[in-house]
Amino acid sequence: MKGINGYLIDIEFNVTPIQGEKKGTKGYLIIFWDITERRKSEELRRQFNQELELQVKIKTKELNDLLEQQNLYQEQILKSSAFKSDFMASMSHELRTPLNSIIGFSDVLLEKYYGDLNDKQDIYVHNVRSSADHLLDLINDILDISKIEAGKLKLELENVNFSDIANRVEATLKPLYMEKNLKFEVVEVGKEKIIIVDRKRFMEIIYNLLSNAIKYTKEGGVKLEILETKDDWVINISDTGIGIASEDFDIVFKEFKRVNSEYTNSIEGTGLGLPLTKKLIELHGGILSFTSELGKGSTFTFTLPKLK
Ligand code: ADP
Repeated sequence: MKGINGYLIDIEFNVTPIQGEKKGTKGYLIIFWDITERRKSEELRRQFNQELELQVKIKTKELNDLLEQQNLYQEQILKSSAFKSDFMASMSHELRTPLNSIIGFSDVLLEKYYGDLNDKQDIYVHNVRSSADHLLDLINDILDISKIEAGKLKLELENVNFSDIANRVEATLKPLYMEKNLKFEVVEVGKEKIIIVDRKRFMEIIYNLLSNAIKYTKEGGVKLEILETKDDWVINISDTGIGIASEDFDIVFKEFKRVNSEYTNSIEGTGLGLPLTKKLIELHGGILSFTSELGKGSTFTFTLPKLK
């Protein structure tokens, strides 16, 4: 027979039947333990666990509330940024219509279809025309950035011959680099490069980077180069221009930001070209980066995944 276990208040005891010393006699062995301390510490542990459970519940609730709040904020941010993009897109669209009419009527005046302009009138109408052109470029850039941010700009991908694009952009930029007496070089090693891109947008990317290279170069030249790795096209646009100081590296991709220098301030610009170019490259699945040394020049490099 097994012993009987039990406890009285804070005492635990065990009773074991035993054989007496004389044959046929029986007795019991009773052992008592003082378990007061053990009970105290068990009680303390129970209280501690209860307190811990309560704290965990409180903290979990606080965390859930915070997460809920964060989700709400995120939703609000997404809503307001979608609203901003929609607003910018429709505003830009509305601005383009009257602007096109200003451009159209300036052209009619400049063509002198309804009579001659005197010298002053000719200068002023030319000013109206070039300001309107500038504003239209700005609006188009804002519209494109908004469309990309709203996920509404869709690429029309097709096979494009790189040399064809390089030649077209070079022809458009010729007056600019010739005027500054700059060298213009296109480097394309090996067989012709057929890339899959949105032709219009790809031309815009190359045009923006090359026109910046020309704009920010006083002497020397600019170079457009295409290389390839197994998975990517790598396109470099380098110049021997004014360069960018390392402390200004992080502003060049920010909208409406321009490096604050005497030379840059003397040149017209909006600070939208690079942010838009970066977004267009990313829309193609590529990456835009650059290296630059103040006073020596810059190289802007972008990759484009080779699509099958
Ligand atoms: P911007 O209309 O001013 O040219 P961008 O967004 O194209 O606007 O470029 C932002 C700024 O980055 C420019 O204002 C200029 O300070 C700097 N930058 C861009 N390209 C070059 C370059 N090739 N060399 C030196 N600075 C450059």
